[in-house]
Amino acid sequence: MSELMCSAKGCREVAEWALRWNNPKLHTADRRKTWLACDAHRTHLENFLSARSFLRETVSVADLPDDT
Ligand SMILES: [Zn+2]
Repeated sequence: MSELMCSAKGCREVAEWALRWNNPKLHTADRRKTWLACDAHRTHLENFLSARSFLRETVSVADLPDDT
């Protein structure tokens, strides 16, 4: 797998976390979008998604399926 970068704006850190989320207005219930986060941005991005009730789970990037 190539190196994955944090999804936070302007951040170039290597991602360590994958935030799996779903917007019920746009996505079917079993669909998952993925945001990648470095350690520093994990909480920030989790809070953003949690505030909108979009966050479903956070996993290590090592545990991500290859097709995402
Ligand atoms: Zn970051």
